[in-house]
Amino acid sequence: MSRALRQLAEIKVDVISGVTPAKLKSLNELGIDSVLDLLTFYPRRYVDRSNTVRLVEAQLGTEILVIGQVIKVSSIRRTKSAKTVVDAVVTDGSSKLYCTFFNQPWRQKQLEDETWIAIFGKLTSFKGKLTMVNPIVDLIGNQTGKIVALYPSSEKSNISNLMMSNFVAEVLNRSKEFLDPLNKDDLTKFGLISRTEAFNNIHFPETAKMSQAARKRLAFDELLRLQLPLMHKKRQILSSNKGYKCEISNLDRVLQFGADIPDLQGLVGEFVRALPFKLTKSQSEVIKEILSDMSKPYPMHRLVQGDVGSGKTVIAVCCMVAAIQNGYQSALMAPTEVLAEQHYLNIIDMTEGLTVEDGTKLFSKSDIKIGLLTGKLTKKSRDVLAEQIESGDIDMVIGTHALISDNLKFKNLAAVVIDEQHRFGVQQRSQLLSKSNFPDTLTMTATPIPRSAAMTVFGDLDQSVLTDMPKGRQIIETHWVKGKNDQSVWAKVLEQIEQNNRVYVVCPLIEESEKISVASVNKVVEELTDGPLKGIEVGVLHGQIPPLKRQGIFEDFVNGTFKVLISTTVIEVGVDVKDATVMVILDADRFGIAQLHQLRGRVGRSDKKSYCYLLTKSKELNEIAKTRLEALVKTNDGFELSEVDFALRGFGTLLGTRQKGRSDLKLAKLPADEKLLDLVKKYLDKLFKLDPDLNSTDIGAFLKNEVAAFYTDEDTDYLLKS
Ligand code: ADP
Ligand code: MG
Repeated sequence: MSRALRQLAEIKVDVISGVTPAKLKSLNELGIDSVLDLLTFYPRRYVDRSNTVRLVEAQLGTEILVIGQVIKVSSIRRTKSAKTVVDAVVTDGSSKLYCTFFNQPWRQKQLEDETWIAIFGKLTSFKGKLTMVNPIVDLIGNQTGKIVALYPSSEKSNISNLMMSNFVAEVLNRSKEFLDPLNKDDLTKFGLISRTEAFNNIHFPETAKMSQAARKRLAFDELLRLQLPLMHKKRQILSSNKGYKCEISNLDRVLQFGADIPDLQGLVGEFVRALPFKLTKSQSEVIKEILSDMSKPYPMHRLVQGDVGSGKTVIAVCCMVAAIQNGYQSALMAPTEVLAEQHYLNIIDMTEGLTVEDGTKLFSKSDIKIGLLTGKLTKKSRDVLAEQIESGDIDMVIGTHALISDNLKFKNLAAVVIDEQHRFGVQQRSQLLSKSNFPDTLTMTATPIPRSAAMTVFGDLDQSVLTDMPKGRQIIETHWVKGKNDQSVWAKVLEQIEQNNRVYVVCPLIEESEKISVASVNKVVEELTDGPLKGIEVGVLHGQIPPLKRQGIFEDFVNGTFKVLISTTVIEVGVDVKDATVMVILDADRFGIAQLHQLRGRVGRSDKKSYCYLLTKSKELNEIAKTRLEALVKTNDGFELSEVDFALRGFGTLLGTRQKGRSDLKLAKLPADEKLLDLVKKYLDKLFKLDPDLNSTDIGAFLKNEVAAFYTDEDTDYLLKS
């Protein structure tokens, strides 16, 4: 009988022989609950016995793979360095090998007498004995087969590699065949093997080539399951006639004859004409894309990626103003109160006094009424505001996630902008959209992701990228300052204060609690004002300060009442102070790449030369932290940094920014598998042509079911419906 993966998801793993309650617990700890989980618990690596070398024949100085049995293990602790050294003697029948492990005390327990192991390392000789130092060791047990699959579990859990292998073998034997959405023609066309073959060969390959072909096929399936709901959703959006249609008079002419945004009649043109600067080329392009999306009968779903400081706010305002011009409401959601407050003040400033005289359709108001809604409002003022929003007295609402509270109703919300979308959970975003029927939505992010990843994760969204920066911006000079060598940093700070510029000092990231983080800010303030910044007035900002007071502090900083602001990461995103030219980040190794880049983006927001100092105290930074800091020093380009981040953190975490549920991508690697992604798209295009709603063909329904087996209801709900 052929099995669908969906069925295997419903069978608990304790049906497998040998899965005792204790083993079940260990399997659960590895995230294996169902038989499907077991089947997709893929080997981490393989040991290929055909590559093993007999010790007597091995060449000194080369890297070799040896399979053998432990005959003796001992350990000593070097008192001076307090380091443990474990020595193990192994034999492969032809000779003995002396392995030495430094600083791996657990090896003593792992390498019991008679354990079968595969050892990989560089063969050397010491006092006439064959030796290896810190080789890679895999416990392979008494396993047969030319190629032994190694599972990621075997070292930490009480499920040995052999046991895991036997469990999987039973699943494969009992399932026999797996139903395959791809028919013979598809397989040939795409150069893929069948699903049944693939599952067998990923766990029990006879050659390395077979395991590679298996990986390719199963990675295709993973990408297929991810793309299917996204492409489905996109097609649904395009074919729906729901949503608000925002008309922009003479937009067609502007689009066709190469005129520009300021030439537009109505509020948008008016708004852009009043700006103190000229739009950059990509700002204009993106605004045109947005306006033409908004004039379509179906809702816009667009993602704007633009580096820190590339000028996304004016784009957001154009979008909102376009809705208002048509007599509708618009909303902007920002991830922090500081940012929402700042947007509010800025946008009031930018839109003040805008009037339209040409009598553009529905729009007859002389002023745009803007409201600020955050969690810190008193109940009374919130109620008043909520009423104005419901009655339509307020045209534009700016806020934090307080915007998505259940009892807030809009009169006619037609455009929703989500700023710094990566900072919001999936649910928060879709909740805001549910405030209205199919509003046009614009999501904006300064944490760009590589193209292939964007295609995968945001396959349902249209994308715009801001490729240029406002004129006159200079590279932010970035230095990594280690240990106590920070005199030059404070000298620069003093110099810049002298020139009437502003300085941020960001305190170490503390995750435990808000209280501790306030204490640490206060400590930094004390140290600095007693030390290098003696006699300098500083401001202090953290999340515990009430919003009104916070606004005051911020204004004082902008006005220059004090010129140094010491704060937590509350200033991380979006904050825009033109005169800020120095960013000092303490304990910079504690921050991620995206966060550091965002923080750095708080300076260099005008044509003034700016500086960023990444300070680290620890003597022994881990390699990943070093790579991050070096990348920041090397480049100012957010897209380049995102590639580095992507390489360091892998795809899983990225997917997490889009989806709450588990990630099904275990084998597919991007951008390496970009070609495979193209095949998936080809396959799905064909499928959707035959079966647009995925319920008129067997394959369509089958695949829809399969997606449900891999993603939680919440995921698919979101992917398919929102
Ligand atoms: P981000 O993309 O990081 O949200 P902002 O929208 O905050 O960037 O813009 C950064 C700064 O650049 C703001 O002070 C804004 O007024 C200014 N700005 C935006 N567009 C332009 C432009 N075309 N020319 C000059 N300055 C601009
Ligand atoms: Mg911004």
